[in-house]
Amino acid sequence: MLYKLTPAEAAHNILSTVRALQPETVALAVALDRVLADGITSPIDLPYWDNAAMDGYAVRSSDVLGCCPVKLAVVDRIAAGAFPTKTVGLGQCSRIFTGAPIPEGADSVIRQEDTTELEAGAVQIDDDRDAGQNVRQRGEDIQGGSLVLAAGTQLGAAQIGVLASFATEQVRVHRKPRVGILATGDELAGLSERQAILDGRKIASSNSHTLGAMVQGAGGVAVDLGIGHDDPQDLRNRLDAVREVDLLVTSGGVSVGEHDYLRQVVEEQGGQMRFWRVRMRPGGPLAFGLLQGKPWIGLPGNPVSTMVTFELFVRPVIRTMLGHNHPFRRTVPVRMGERTSLRAPLHHFLRAVVEQVNGQLVARLTGGQGSGILTSMAKANALIVVPDDHLEVRQGDTLHAMFLAEPVHVARFPGEQYPVT
Ligand code: AMP
Ligand code: MG
Repeated sequence: MLYKLTPAEAAHNILSTVRALQPETVALAVALDRVLADGITSPIDLPYWDNAAMDGYAVRSSDVLGCCPVKLAVVDRIAAGAFPTKTVGLGQCSRIFTGAPIPEGADSVIRQEDTTELEAGAVQIDDDRDAGQNVRQRGEDIQGGSLVLAAGTQLGAAQIGVLASFATEQVRVHRKPRVGILATGDELAGLSERQAILDGRKIASSNSHTLGAMVQGAGGVAVDLGIGHDDPQDLRNRLDAVREVDLLVTSGGVSVGEHDYLRQVVEEQGGQMRFWRVRMRPGGPLAFGLLQGKPWIGLPGNPVSTMVTFELFVRPVIRTMLGHNHPFRRTVPVRMGERTSLRAPLHHFLRAVVEQVNGQLVARLTGGQGSGILTSMAKANALIVVPDDHLEVRQGDTLHAMFLAEPVHVARFPGEQYPVT
C-alpha cells in the first residue's frame, strides 16, 4: 500500500463501515445523553387547557377595558390543582392563581397588584392594562399529535423534561456500543503487578486505562480484554473476543517492528485490512480492518498516539453507533502564542493549552510533543490541527483547535478543508 490516507480520509473510510446500533427501550430516568431511535409525538396538548400566567382575577376584557376602576363580583376561587366551578358572566370574575385553568367566559387575568379587595365577594379592578393578557393558550407549547422530538435527538435535561411532560416513562434509543479494549506488548503489566512496575521490570499498561475512560466518556461500554503478548498465537486467541463486542480497539503492535503481529494475525483470522498508516503525527501507524464483520481499529501503542487517534477515529465511531449524526468535535480558530517547527510534512495534532487572552483564544504548547509524553496530554485542553503543508508554525498564525471536552459536534473532520491564515 503506497498511498497513505490523510486523517480525514481515514476517518471517513472507517465511518463508511459503521452505522447506528439497533434500538433498545430504556427508562426515562437513565436516558440522559442517549439518542432517540424514533421520532416522538405527544398524545396531548400542552398546556392541556388555557391557564393563568399570573396570580390575579380572571375577567372578561370587555368588562374592564376603558372603564377602570370598576367593581366586579368574585364568583369562584381557582387555585393551581383546582378546576373552575363557575362560568364568568357579565360583571363577574374569578380569583385565580398561576397555572390554574381559565374559567369559561373569561379571556384575561388581571394581575393582583392592579386590584383592590372590597367587601367579601367583590373586587375593584384599578387598571385595564392586562385586558386580553396573561392567558397561556392550550397547546401553545406542544400540540397533540405533532412531532415533538425527531429521531436522532440527543436527550439532555430539556428533552427529558419535554418527554416527562406528556408522561413518557420509557424511550427507544440506540444501544450503547460494547467496545473491546486489548492492550498488546510483552513489556506491559496491569496494576495488579504493581511491584514489577515500581521496580522497573514492567511498564504499566496506561493505555488500558486511558482507553477505558475515553470509551466511557464517548458514551460506550468499555470491555477490558486484558494485555496480549507479542505472540501470534496469543493474539489470535484474544482477537476471538471480537464476537462479544461491537467494536474492537487494540493498542500497540501495528508498527513496523518485528514483534508487531496484529495486522498479520487479523488477516490470518480472515479479517479484511482496510488501510494501514495515515499521514499524521502522532498516530501514523494506525490500522483499520474488519474482523468477523466488526470494525477493528489498531491504535499505535505510544500513549499520546493512542489517545490522539482515539479522539480522531474511535470516538466518532462510538458516536455513530450511538445514533449521533455529528461524529466529530468542533474546532475553533485560535492564535498561536509561540512558534514551532515540524520536521515532517504530515498532519500534526499538537497538544496545547488554549486560553482567552485579551478577548482572543491563544494556544501554547504543553511542552515536549513526543508521543510517549503522556503528561503533555494531561496538561492539554486542546489539540492544534496543523495541515501537512504547514511546517513552520509562526507566532500569531491562526490555526484550528479541537477542544478535548468540546460538547458541540459537527459532520466535518477536525481541520478538514480549513486554510491556514
Ligand atoms: P508499539 O506501538 O507496540 O510499538 O508501542 C510503542 C510504545 O508504546 C512502546 O514504548 C510501548 O511500550 C508503549 N506502549 C504500548 N502499549 C502500551 C500500553 N498499553 N500502555 C502504555 N504504553 C504502551
Ligand atoms: Mg509493542
